[in-house]
Amino acid sequence: MITVHNLCKQYGELEVLKSLSTEIRKGEVVSVIGPSGCGKSTFLRCLNLLETPTAGDILINGESLLAKDAMVPKVRQRMNMVFQSFNLFAHLTVLENLTLGPIRLLGKSRQEADSHALELLRLVGLAEKADRFPDELSGGQKQRVAIARCLAMDPEIILFDEPTSALDPTMVREVLSVIRRLAKEGMTMVIVTHEMDFARDVSQRVFYMDEGGIYEQGTPEQIFESPQREKTRAFINRVRSYVCSLDSPDFDLYALNADLEAFCEKQILPRKTRHNLLLLVEELLQLHRPRLGSAPLNIQVSYSEKTEVLELQFEQRGPRFDPLEASDQEDDLGLILIRSFAEDISFAHEQGVNRLTLIVRK
Ligand code: ADP
Ligand code: MG
Repeated sequence: MITVHNLCKQYGELEVLKSLSTEIRKGEVVSVIGPSGCGKSTFLRCLNLLETPTAGDILINGESLLAKDAMVPKVRQRMNMVFQSFNLFAHLTVLENLTLGPIRLLGKSRQEADSHALELLRLVGLAEKADRFPDELSGGQKQRVAIARCLAMDPEIILFDEPTSALDPTMVREVLSVIRRLAKEGMTMVIVTHEMDFARDVSQRVFYMDEGGIYEQGTPEQIFESPQREKTRAFINRVRSYVCSLDSPDFDLYALNADLEAFCEKQILPRKTRHNLLLLVEELLQLHRPRLGSAPLNIQVSYSEKTEVLELQFEQRGPRFDPLEASDQEDDLGLILIRSFAEDISFAHEQGVNRLTLIVRK
């Protein structure tokens, strides 16, 4: 139904979308997720021609929207958009908000427009608010009116740009229920959302946007359960990490410890976990001492908010060197300590890189 071909959008020097291509089928519900500023809104706004793409093409049922003779209002009617901030007309009643477009742009009679509008208000549970003004409604009600207004234009596709992010948590559910219902009725929808559980159960496909395009896409199971690419994984698991690289045996251990403590504090990790991490790093550095300076030693600490797992990784290029294997008698105590602070220890030597990964005990 919608084909997007090498879509590019630049604002001056800033390349927001870099050759994004995809297809969306009729009846499909696609959720778009990704970090803030990655171009999700820009993507929707280009689809809807609220922004003019710098290059590329967008086709609905084979017709180019960017062709010279394409009618912008017609495009917006076929592919209508619901915004985060509702955008209702404050000086019009709820009913008038719904009938304005159909009367002016679709040429419907007032009576026809009124009866369709009432039907739609019933669908979103707000028929009794028909004669109220937007200011008299709650945020959740306003957004439901905005959805009904969008439906009043008989769109083939609805684009939602974070429809619940301006709402109090108590009102999110009522809006999501309405969108769920539309999904059940087979409406084609593209939904930019931060509500991961919702994205997961409402959509057939999820786009994870990053680096100016669709960085990874798949079914909700694929994206939420087993994302394949690094940035998707970090986003899904909300991984935060601290990385440093030690080049010489004379590194500043105090500065490193201070950085690690600051990282733990930021993630609000319990004292005990923080303590375990610091001791682990210290013991591991002892074991790595003979090799320090031969190649940079990269230390990475990552914390996943979702799984609450704190992972520590030591990486160094060079011949195979498993510090836990190589240690001699003298370091036995170090080994015992390491085993008591870490619960899952794995070592690999691949493509000339030694990689030791440990999960820090809580
Ligand atoms: P998202 O919706 O994923 O948070 P946006 O699409 O709103 O991201 O923005 C993507 C990038 O484009 C951001 O860096 C933003 O500052 C920039 N941007 C968006 N709109 C404009 C504009 N009209 N002019 C200049 N820069 C813009
Ligand atoms: Mg946005």
